[in-house]
Amino acid sequence: MTLRVFVNERPVTVARGATVRDAVAALDGELAGLLASGAAYATDGVGRPVDAADPIGEGGAILRVIVTARQGPPRLSKELLRRWPKAELHVHLDGSLRPQTMLELARAQGVRLPADTPEGLAEALHVKHAKSLEEYLTKYEITLSVMQTAAALERVAYEFVIDAAADGVRYVEVRYSPLLHRPALTLTQAIEAPLAGIRRAEAETGTKVGVIVCAIRTRPPAESLELARAAAQYRSAGVVAFDLAGPERGHPAREHAPAFEYAAAHGMACTCHAGEGDGPHSIHEALHQCGAQRIGHGTRLGEDPTLLDYVVERGIPLEMCLTSNLHTHTVTTIAEHPFKRYLDRGVVVTLNTDGRLVDGISLTNEYFLAQSVLGLGRQELARVTLNACDSAFLPEYEKVALVSRIQSELEAL
Ligand SMILES: [Zn+2]
Repeated sequence: MTLRVFVNERPVTVARGATVRDAVAALDGELAGLLASGAAYATDGVGRPVDAADPIGEGGAILRVIVTARQGPPRLSKELLRRWPKAELHVHLDGSLRPQTMLELARAQGVRLPADTPEGLAEALHVKHAKSLEEYLTKYEITLSVMQTAAALERVAYEFVIDAAADGVRYVEVRYSPLLHRPALTLTQAIEAPLAGIRRAEAETGTKVGVIVCAIRTRPPAESLELARAAAQYRSAGVVAFDLAGPERGHPAREHAPAFEYAAAHGMACTCHAGEGDGPHSIHEALHQCGAQRIGHGTRLGEDPTLLDYVVERGIPLEMCLTSNLHTHTVTTIAEHPFKRYLDRGVVVTLNTDGRLVDGISLTNEYFLAQSVLGLGRQELARVTLNACDSAFLPEYEKVALVSRIQSELEAL
C-alpha cells in the first residue's frame, strides 16, 4: 500500500507507515540531508513543526520543509525532548482532560457534549480558531461541565499527573479554580478531590505536584477572598499558591488585592495572569498592587522597557506559553513570540502548555517549538528547564533537591 502526500507542494508517493524523513527523501535527497543535519525543519500544512521521525498519518498530508540559515549541531528529536526531564509551572487542570474521560464522565452524568468521539471532541475543544482570549476561555465551560463531582475531579487530576509524567515532567504546578465547581461542590470538597487524585498519581509516578488555586477576574472580589481563605487551609497539604485568571481587559487585578494580601499573609506564594489579554500596565499592577512573585504569560512585557528592566533586575519569572499565545492572538506567529528575546535579555523565562487538551499540545511539543522555530539550542533549553525548577513554589530544600535531580538527569541524557 502506498500513500500520496505533498512535500513543498509537490506530490510524492511513499509506503504506508513512512516517516516525514522518507517523504522528503522521496522528493529530494539533498533536502533530506539538510533536514537530517538540522539546517532545515519540516512543518505540517498549518505550519506546526513536525519531527523527521514522525509517521505520515494519511494520504493527502501536506508537508513543508523550511531551510534555515542556522547550521547548528543536530537538533534534538521529539523523543529525546520527551525524555528530557522537565518542570512545568503554568497549566490549567480544566484545560487538560483526556477526551475519552470527558466522554465517559458525560455519559455517566447525563451531560451533553459537542461531539461523541474522542477525536471529534478534541477538535471541538481545540482553541486554534479562537479570535481572542475571551473566546478561548469559552472552551473551558465545556470541560467544566463534566467536572462537577468530587469523583470526576479526583479522576481528572489523577490522569493529568499520569499524562504529565509520561511527557517527561518531573515537577508540575497545576491550577484551577475551585470557585467554578460550586454549587455542585463546596470549596472544601473542590479542593480536597483533586488533591486526592494528585497524591495517588504522585505515588505511582514519582512526579511531584503543587496546586495553584485561581481566583477569577470577572467574579466579585469577595469570592476571591473567600477562596484565598479556603485555600490557605490546605497550604501544607499540596496547595502552593494563589493566582488570578480570566478575561484580563477591563477586569483589573487590583480589585482582588485583598485576596492576594490574605494569601501572602498566610504563607502562600502568589502568581497572576497578566500581559496576555492586556498590555504591560496589567503586569505592573500584578507586581506592584497584588504582590505577584511570578507572572502568568507576561508576553507583552517588552512594550514597557522600564518594566522589562525591573523584571530582569528582580529575577521575576515569566510562565510563558508559546502555542497558547498563538491561539489567543497574543502573538501572530510563533516566530514572532518574544520568548527567545526575553531569554537573551536575561528574563527568567519558563516554558509551559497552559492547556494540554484545549491547545492540543504537550510540554514536549513546546520544547520542540522553542528549538525548531525560535532556535534554542541544548544549553538554552537546559537553562529554561532549570529556570522552571528555580522558580517553583517549593520550600528551598525541596527546590535544591529538584534542581539536582534534573541536572543529573540532563547530564545522563
Ligand atoms: Zn493560564
